[in-house]
Amino acid sequence: MAAVQLKTVKFGGSSLADAAQFRKVKAIIESDPGRCFVVPSAPGKRHSKDVKVTDMLYQCQQLAAEGKDFSQTLAQIRERYMEIANTLSVSFDPTAALEKIEADLKAGASKDYAASRGEYLNGMLLSEYLGFPFVDAAEVVCFTEAGVFRMDDTMQKMRARLKGLERAVVPGFYGATDDGRIITFSRGGSDVTGSLVARATRSDIYENWTDVSGVLVADPRIVPDAAVINTVTYEELRELSYMGATVLHEDAIFPVRAAGIPINIRNTNEPEAPGTFIVADDSAESDVETGYTITGIAGKKGFCAINIQKAMMNAELGFCRKVLTVLEDNGISFEHMPSGIDTMTLILPEDAIRGKEKTVLSGIRKAVSPDRCEIEHGISLLAVVGRGMRRTRGTAARIFAALAHARINIKMIDQGSSELNIIIGLLDGDFEEAVRRIYEIFITGASVTVDED
Ligand code: ASP
Repeated sequence: MAAVQLKTVKFGGSSLADAAQFRKVKAIIESDPGRCFVVPSAPGKRHSKDVKVTDMLYQCQQLAAEGKDFSQTLAQIRERYMEIANTLSVSFDPTAALEKIEADLKAGASKDYAASRGEYLNGMLLSEYLGFPFVDAAEVVCFTEAGVFRMDDTMQKMRARLKGLERAVVPGFYGATDDGRIITFSRGGSDVTGSLVARATRSDIYENWTDVSGVLVADPRIVPDAAVINTVTYEELRELSYMGATVLHEDAIFPVRAAGIPINIRNTNEPEAPGTFIVADDSAESDVETGYTITGIAGKKGFCAINIQKAMMNAELGFCRKVLTVLEDNGISFEHMPSGIDTMTLILPEDAIRGKEKTVLSGIRKAVSPDRCEIEHGISLLAVVGRGMRRTRGTAARIFAALAHARINIKMIDQGSSELNIIIGLLDGDFEEAVRRIYEIFITGASVTVDED
């Protein structure tokens, strides 16, 4: 018989939004003896118009800070936990804990403290329901007084506390300073706690259970029924996430990556689906064929281009540095810098330059006396990502043929030196169509012929 693999399992808010979801979670945990360490989020939305418990807690804190009454919101929070506990016949009663939270908020407790209570209460409820010991994250996730996360201390404390426990529930999202002040990670931070517990317990796999069947090849709002990616490397995921694919909290990757623990994204509502494995580039799993040349497509709108032209620019020593110094002096970082012999373009987020346009343009004019310097708005960036591209010829040709066929004008092309991605700049209006065309050609297998005109 194969040895049981030790797993840390994190369940997101929608996986624990009501009693029916709790039942699914219990069935998932009980179906695999390796699922020993459990990290829950706070109850999330039960339907699209619902409010997450975390958001209700933030609201309570805000009202309390303004000296206003928040008893109604607090009663709704109590109701949510009571309903789950009663339906599941768990004896957990949040009343006393909520009374303490109420008193603390009235006494000026922080936002982080307020928000953390969602996970805290859900952790206690889940631990009773599963019959697993509860370990408060405040005891094992360490922050400095300034609110900076401390990895080494966390590993040490977590290992000492979990030693000897065969199973445990550790609530996600928060930790504490040495003197017990609660600090949270940024939103979605239960993913980070899951990663920390997986590392501390030396789990074989970190399962991250959510409400989609893995990382999708493309945004389902653009490509309905987009395929699930079987295996993605950390590097690919970073490229995709940076370009807008929302999968995991960014800080959740590092702790497990450093320990060589793969992440498996799974769907609580479709537990048989294998989901997506996130693995290291040099792992055996990363050699698994994705089945397609590309792994994923992602992109973002909201960029602009500063186009600079000057005859003999190529011969002018320090031209580039002088232009970039203007950006630096204005606190702006750029995304891409495609250049020609007498032209250079800087692609940057609209947000970064808003309100500074005049200063930046006049700064560039003063620094390098260009023949022309202007800003073009409404640019999108689209990234086609895939480790398979390294060993396949003709990928770029297929992408550009697909876009040419759709009569989409390409404003910029950039292939990273890792050959892991090709980034394309387009006009905002062409973005969705471009994603669909590239998806079709690589995933659905449409063939492309380019009209000559
Ligand atoms: N409950 C927190 C949030 O809503 C943390 C999490 O769910 O991961 O952001």
